[in-house]
Amino acid sequence: MAPQEVIYGKTDYKLLKEQFVLKGIPSSAGIALGNAIVLQPESLISPSIKIPSEEISNELLKFEKAHTNLVHQFMQSLHKVRSLGSNVIAILETNLLILTDPILYDGIRNRIKDGFSVESAIVSEFDNQRKFFLNASDALLQERANEIDNIKRKLLASLKDQSIDYEKSQQSIVVAQALTTTDIVNFKEAGILAIITEVGGVTSHASILARSFDIPAVIGVHNATDVIKNGTELIVDGFAGIVVVKPKKDVRDVYLQKIEALEEHKRNLGALAKLPSETFDGKRISLLGNVNFLDDVRSGEINGADGYGLVRSENLVMELKGFPDEETQYKWYREICERAYPKPVTIRVFDLGSDKFVEGLPIKEFNPALGLRGIRFLLSRQDIFKAQLRALLRASVNKNLKIMLPMVTSLHEVEISRKILEKCKTELQQDSVLFDNRIALGVMIETPAAAIISDGLAKVADFFSIGTNDLTQYTLAADRNNELVSDIFDDFHPSVLRLIDFIIKTAHKNGVTVSICGELAGHAAATQLLIGMDVDELSVAPSLLLELKNRIRSLTYSEAKLIAEDILNSNDYFEVKTKLEKAIGRHSITELNEI
Ligand code: PEP
Ligand code: MG
Repeated sequence: MAPQEVIYGKTDYKLLKEQFVLKGIPSSAGIALGNAIVLQPESLISPSIKIPSEEISNELLKFEKAHTNLVHQFMQSLHKVRSLGSNVIAILETNLLILTDPILYDGIRNRIKDGFSVESAIVSEFDNQRKFFLNASDALLQERANEIDNIKRKLLASLKDQSIDYEKSQQSIVVAQALTTTDIVNFKEAGILAIITEVGGVTSHASILARSFDIPAVIGVHNATDVIKNGTELIVDGFAGIVVVKPKKDVRDVYLQKIEALEEHKRNLGALAKLPSETFDGKRISLLGNVNFLDDVRSGEINGADGYGLVRSENLVMELKGFPDEETQYKWYREICERAYPKPVTIRVFDLGSDKFVEGLPIKEFNPALGLRGIRFLLSRQDIFKAQLRALLRASVNKNLKIMLPMVTSLHEVEISRKILEKCKTELQQDSVLFDNRIALGVMIETPAAAIISDGLAKVADFFSIGTNDLTQYTLAADRNNELVSDIFDDFHPSVLRLIDFIIKTAHKNGVTVSICGELAGHAAATQLLIGMDVDELSVAPSLLLELKNRIRSLTYSEAKLIAEDILNSNDYFEVKTKLEKAIGRHSITELNEI
């Protein structure tokens, strides 16, 4: 198997059929093979255990000692991550703020003074705080409730002087009920291979840290500390969110190959994955992945995607050969968003019709590319549209999801879509379902009509994404799938380039960001040109991300601007081609196409 296939290949569930596999949530990408170190959870403590009054001062002292020790531990962790960037520091500071919150601190002391044991006082005060967050109508705040719980556990352990022996975990896989941020920092230092927890969400600070530290993690694995015994060999697949317990030889071999391929990838272009996508002279361009299937998100993670600019949701319809219900869609969208978190994900509503024909669709048109396609179809079937919007809203709880409309030709289509979206929000609110109330609604600019009225569209849309495949097809009146006109279908045609330039300028005048998600975005000859035109984001197949980043990092924005200006002044395709070839110093665009 070629390394690429090993890395990007889907999880082979057939291979795992005979295996004991635990399913969880993929929270940090990567694969590890090693032995388990199981941290046993604490038993429950009642919040109302009373103590005799003569023990109060002793309990107060115990609390202060445990608290000081834990604060000290967090400060040390904070010190260790000083060099790792503001994101990681902010996370640890937030945890320290919870621990040193005077209301919580005084609350515990007062409760001890009222005659409760130090353990009971900690449990009751922390649980009160936790309830407050649990009742919040915001998923991220609810996640903070878990964090409060973790810090509580840590404080209780500190009371008993039970500190984790981090050093022992070197080259092992840690299995725990939950972990705090300071645990993750210490485990990273000790050199653990992977993390498995029973609770926690992908938005938890511990998950975010695991991702920052590149430690594969699977969370939400029920009863993991019970089912997995100390010393058991495990495979943690942080892409698929699975744990293979006692892998058989063939499974072990496949995963060893995957680990090797991943390492090789990191040694080669992989080093680029962690570097910012910016030109030599400092201009940032977000690099996003296009997603056709769930596995594209894993590929995006390996290749350092800054997010996902186009999820083609109609693939789900085509895969299932029919329309999935709201629940099925919700699970798919939620999984994509969780795998990507905290990176943004733009999900395009079903773009059906034209070449994306689904069996069973009651439409047979003579000219489907010009027919009831994309948003037109959805507005004609509002039952389908509403189910999708509800599923998308439900999947937006962690606030990293945006919705995008395909095949737009008028403002009316966006306005009416927004009205339907608002209606769905009201319904969900009535049912107390959480979602991101400020979810962004963007528009694909892929028809000449949309490009020409982009000034108006910018006032009703939150962002633009240029679909150069269709924009080229409709501008040049050349079917994108017809071999006979393939020489006419060319996204370097001056008319297409000028439309793109016009869209970007108009969008920026109106404060709207522009991404390009058609094939042109990944074309080797187009990078300099598009950056010179001031595009904000490029969304491409994940396998192209690193090469694209490499090109971006080796060019300068100032030169790209001059080249774009020159090329946009050409009327003729051949002139464009000659100028591009000269600019990038290669022989032909066709040749570049094959890179
Ligand atoms: C496009 O038209 O450029 C695009 C990205 O959408 P699709 O290829 O799915 O039509
Ligand atoms: Mg399109």
